[in-house]
Amino acid sequence: MTELTPMMKQYLTIKKQHPDEILFFRLGDFYEMFFDDAEVASKALEITLTSRDSGSGKKTPMCGVPYHAAESYIARLIDKGFRVAICEQVEDPRTAKGIVKREVTRIITPGTVTESSMLDETRYNFLIGIVKDDLGYGLAVAEVSTGYFAMTEITGPMALTKLIDEISRLKPVECILPDELKENRDLQGKLFKFRGLAINHFNWKSFSYSTSYRGLIEHFGTSSLEGFGCEGLTLGIRAAGGILGFLKETQKNTLLHINKVMPYTTDCYMLLDNATRRNLELTQTIRDGQKRGSLLWVIDHTVTAMGARLLKLWLEQPLLDIAAISERLDAVEELANNTIKRSDLRKLLDRVYDLERLAGRIAYGSANARDLIALKCSLEVLPQLCYLLQDSYSPGLVVIQETIDCMDDVVGIIRDSIHEEPPFSLRDGNIIKTGFNPEVDNLRTASRDGKQWITSLEAQEKERTGIKSLKVGFNKVFGYYIEITRSNLAMVPDEYIRKQTLANAERYITPQLKEYENLIMGAEDRLTQLEYNMFCEIRETVNREVARIQKCASLIAILDVYQSNAEAAIRNNYSKPVVKDSDVLAIKEGRHPVVERMLAEEPFIPNDTYLDGSGYRLDIITGPNMAGKSTYMRQVALICLMAQTGLFVPAENAKIGIIDRIFTRVGASDDLATGQSTFMVEMNEVANILNNATSKSLVILDEIGRGTSTFDGLSIAWAVAEYILDTGKVGAKTLFATHYHELTELAEIFPGVQNHNIAVREKGEDIIFLRKIIPGGADRSYGIQVARLAGLPSEVLTRAKEILATLETTEDLAKGQREAAAGRKKHVRENERLQLSIFEEPGNTNPVLEEIKKVDILNLTPIDALNLLYRLHLKLREE
Ligand code: ATP
Repeated sequence: MTELTPMMKQYLTIKKQHPDEILFFRLGDFYEMFFDDAEVASKALEITLTSRDSGSGKKTPMCGVPYHAAESYIARLIDKGFRVAICEQVEDPRTAKGIVKREVTRIITPGTVTESSMLDETRYNFLIGIVKDDLGYGLAVAEVSTGYFAMTEITGPMALTKLIDEISRLKPVECILPDELKENRDLQGKLFKFRGLAINHFNWKSFSYSTSYRGLIEHFGTSSLEGFGCEGLTLGIRAAGGILGFLKETQKNTLLHINKVMPYTTDCYMLLDNATRRNLELTQTIRDGQKRGSLLWVIDHTVTAMGARLLKLWLEQPLLDIAAISERLDAVEELANNTIKRSDLRKLLDRVYDLERLAGRIAYGSANARDLIALKCSLEVLPQLCYLLQDSYSPGLVVIQETIDCMDDVVGIIRDSIHEEPPFSLRDGNIIKTGFNPEVDNLRTASRDGKQWITSLEAQEKERTGIKSLKVGFNKVFGYYIEITRSNLAMVPDEYIRKQTLANAERYITPQLKEYENLIMGAEDRLTQLEYNMFCEIRETVNREVARIQKCASLIAILDVYQSNAEAAIRNNYSKPVVKDSDVLAIKEGRHPVVERMLAEEPFIPNDTYLDGSGYRLDIITGPNMAGKSTYMRQVALICLMAQTGLFVPAENAKIGIIDRIFTRVGASDDLATGQSTFMVEMNEVANILNNATSKSLVILDEIGRGTSTFDGLSIAWAVAEYILDTGKVGAKTLFATHYHELTELAEIFPGVQNHNIAVREKGEDIIFLRKIIPGGADRSYGIQVARLAGLPSEVLTRAKEILATLETTEDLAKGQREAAAGRKKHVRENERLQLSIFEEPGNTNPVLEEIKKVDILNLTPIDALNLLYRLHLKLREE
């Protein structure tokens, strides 16, 4: 180290404290990276790797990026999973004695990004913290760019599964774990499955109860956490304290915008597990993860970034509380019924910028003058909004109208002080309005007067010297100069001092020109510094009101979601659902919101649904491939989910008895990451349903047991259906689509089961899909016809038909055996009676008995025995 240059020594000392981050080391106008950081970053950023002599004679690898373009490079590194430590010069190099002092001023990780260029404005960028003890888990959630901070506890049986479900709702970008959870394979394994989730460990002390509690009350400036309703939430407090500790350490910021922590419980929301969120394609499609093709794509008519984020959040978190759902639905209804109000509202909201994130940047001290102008323009809309909402009658709108704070004071401060169109940079001046501060005005006048003198100098000197082509110009190296072309050099006055020679001209200065130049430069330097300082003061004043801005942002977001839901209702012809505390789920003319949007050529055929807790609990849906079974079942789930989110629904009318959870078992895919086969994934999902569904749940089963042999599959499907049907065990409302037509027999055996199928019409070799759901079971799957539609070679189709014909005959035998097993309940009494009559009544002349008597058992081959048994069985059934 002794041989190194002082700058390198400084670098290495700082780097030692940040081994896990790429260190952006500020050197003048660049951020430089050295050694391994340079090698890694140059590859990741595709920038040139160079080297420099660090003093030891050895070449040190290095690469760098200009400071003004650093944001985009940092964004790329974060995106690739790196963390970046920003090391700034913390004293003015002009006044520094010796080497300029440098410090790491911020560590940027995926969950601590605040720069708008690095954030997706349509989604929250959640950072979560998790702790664990014997009772369960504590989970804290922070959104640094907006100041959102919440905590919850997840305890009891299946706590880990519930935690993972909650994480799948939040879709966080980063997770902080105490060191002690490093070895917890169960948790780590599940977290690794979330694509794009960065997992970081943090000193466990920050997650201890006492450190966490102290850290939280110190940050909020309170004496307890009582006021936030968090007192006693030991696990939640530990998780929240850990996150706050992490933020304080990495952000080196007061984080004033994180001004409250909200406790919440997952019990007040409809529970949706990870598979269900995926299967229902709420916010992105399964196939390509895009918004297009998802429910959100169809219903999102928000016009503000805050509204877009909130709608997404609401959609992933439907409510259980009828009053809260009604408040949303009533507000949507009012706006749906009033086209003029809705359209005016949309126009006004369109003028509102992202207040939540503006508030975050103000608190972070990274907001520039344009941000403050955006804030002012947004707040200026509020009085008009309030006026528009004046005659509202639905409680949801009334409460917004009454509580919105127009913040005239903040608008006044910004309007009086900041230019309407300020530059992007805070170091270029032109921020403070003329008339706001006399010193700024004086410096501006001095600079303007000086520039005017210089402008008039050109005309004056042209006339004095008689040189028509004489020009006064400016460049950064020489400042102001007088330029004379070569042909006129003879006419140059004596007092001109030559400064620069060009190919065609010479450049000169004069003492007076330099005097004015100093005046202008001095005034401008002082002016930019003064404007910068004043801007920081104004930003700090606004920062003191950040909680009010946040409150306002949250109201605007809700209002935007209401209007978006109303707009979606009108555009898509949705109706207001009736949500009640009942057991009935009745949908008239329901449609699938996304499929109906996608269909270009044929109309979407609506279908009715009726399920309740007693007579119509389990609906077995059969029908050909491609008939529309999955579409139908998903539409029922989506309609329930939309209703409880506060959205109108694609149906003529819908009565929804509150659903506590929706489960879906749809399709299947391997989960190679955890080494699980298709069948194992499917069975895991089924197990989850059987263990967690209640009589208030809605279960969608789209084929189960397909991933194994037919008999195993059928047996599992049958047993699962029986279990779900049993009110003592599950008793959930269930839609079960299957190609095992044997399952339609359940309806004959158990009360509470009904059969439906999706109608098709045969036309020669072809089938026509009618898409209408009708009572009764289907008897065929028409798989071969559908395969023909898909373009399978005719040779394959013909051969398939032959095989099918053979199988159908042998199937009869197997069917008989299955019926014996399946029909055990229905026939139990009859069988009991028969057994009694066979073996107990003397002189019984039952033909079955007679045949058994005749059998020559000793000469019976196994196959004959089986055939005999089959015949006897048929006889008994015929009786
Ligand atoms: P499989 O048994 O092969 O999985 P399925 O019966 O589940 O098939 P779906 O996937 O639901 O069939 O539907 C197939 C296609 O039929 C859909 O992609 C859609 O284009 C169309 N469709 C489904 N339902 C309707 C409807 N009610 N009205 C119009 N078109 C529909």
